Amino acid sequence: MTRPDDGSADYLSRNDLHVMAFTDPLTGLGNANKMRDRVREIAAERAADPAPFTIGLANLDGFKPLNDLFGPGAGDEILCQVANRLLACVPDGATVIRVGGDEFAFVLPLVFERKAAEKIGQMLREVLSAPFDLGQRTVRLSASFGFAIYPFAGADYEELLKSADTALYRSKRRGRGQITVFSHEIAAEMKRATQLEQALRNAIINGAVDVHFQPIVDLATDMPVGFEALARWCDADLGYVSPAVFVPLAEERGFIHSLTETLLRKAAEAALLWPKELFLSFNLSSAQLMDPSTSRDVLAIVNRVGLDPRRLELEITETAVMTDADMAQKIVAELRAAGMRISLDDFGTGQSSLGRLRDFTFDKLKIDRSFVSRIATDRASEHIIKAIVTMCDGLNLEVVAEGIEDFAEALKLKGLGCGMGQGYFYGKPADLQATMRYLEKRFGSLDQSQSQAG
Ligand code: C2E
Ligand code: CA
Ligand code: CA
Repeated sequence: MTRPDDGSADYLSRNDLHVMAFTDPLTGLGNANKMRDRVREIAAERAADPAPFTIGLANLDGFKPLNDLFGPGAGDEILCQVANRLLACVPDGATVIRVGGDEFAFVLPLVFERKAAEKIGQMLREVLSAPFDLGQRTVRLSASFGFAIYPFAGADYEELLKSADTALYRSKRRGRGQITVFSHEIAAEMKRATQLEQALRNAIINGAVDVHFQPIVDLATDMPVGFEALARWCDADLGYVSPAVFVPLAEERGFIHSLTETLLRKAAEAALLWPKELFLSFNLSSAQLMDPSTSRDVLAIVNRVGLDPRRLELEITETAVMTDADMAQKIVAELRAAGMRISLDDFGTGQSSLGRLRDFTFDKLKIDRSFVSRIATDRASEHIIKAIVTMCDGLNLEVVAEGIEDFAEALKLKGLGCGMGQGYFYGKPADLQATMRYLEKRFGSLDQSQSQAG
């Protein structure tokens, strides 16, 4: 191909094509091609003496729901405003790119190390946190950032971009407005998380996640009145993994549904073997309190197993209720209408607890272990528990003290009028076999006439 030497339209249009191939049509920023070229260009310039430079990725948090709510016109407007703000504040020599969707990128030739990258991230985050003007209304957004420094995070474009992507992915997983600069420790951490996720998926499919039971006792008689089901998973390679780790992981990765289904089924089947006056208490995760199908799913499982829904209590936390209060309220109402009871878990650790008690109908409240474990030594904790017990009395709520570890704590709680207790002092979580032995010791041999079948 020869270039016409008279500056004809043919040449101009080819130039236009070239510009188009490197430009994002919406914002006028460079596109992914531009980014690749710019990175290769800087890397080539520095080939002899590979001085570091940095690339960054920014992804808007919660852009999709905004786009759905206000329409694509408003979405485009926000993206253009984001582009303008980024252009206005990046340091000299930097290139700003729209990679696609709500993802932007930067090539920062003069950023050499982590601290400087973090500083730029903080500045950009700040700039994007100001409200966006949409004419009739303003909206707020946050953004997550991932940075990667050449050549440590990757000696070629593909590898460097992959590292920035890993860093961004980590930021996204940690919530909104996070900034991560890639390092090999972070790569290892992400690899472990991926391994854990894979192993958990397999464990759920193979039914390897088990459920244990911890007694909840009547403090006046020390006799069990029910059991809390607690998920247990021991992986051949990873060893024991706490539910405080894998339950949130299952939520985040979107397979809490299948996890809960297995656990609730196993727990409900176990409860059929217990004396029928004993209840089963089951933890619902926060994701489930935002999912309109939860009450139907839970009810379907107990019906299939044949457990009387009135024997089932569902434990929910304030944090879970707070995320989407209207949806949570609806789910709670449906579950209660089906005869199940609702327990407010970890009471005292969340926010605006008292307001929740007014707006929601709970049946039971569980005082968090952090108060119980200090009751013998700390006057304040004792007063707080006393106040909670009195309040529950007035609100007609049952009370369980969690995490009772010794006799002194049990005695104090009884003295304060607390009705029920749970903790290592009364029994650690145990598998079904051990739970049946525990029950037989207290109730004598459990024949089918005593327990509820079908
Ligand atoms: P949680 O609901 O507050 O459960 C009570 C936790 O305290 C359990 O930890 C239990 O083993 C522990 N515990 C009980 N008594 C004592 C005590 O006397 N001293 C001490 N130090 N600890 C005591 P675990 O089993 O590790 O569970 C941790 C959390 O994981 C649970 O906190 C719950 O939030 C979540 N979880 C467990 N199983 C499930 C499940 O099936 N579904 C959901 N959504 N969450 C679950
Ligand atoms: Ca619980
Ligand atoms: Ca708890």
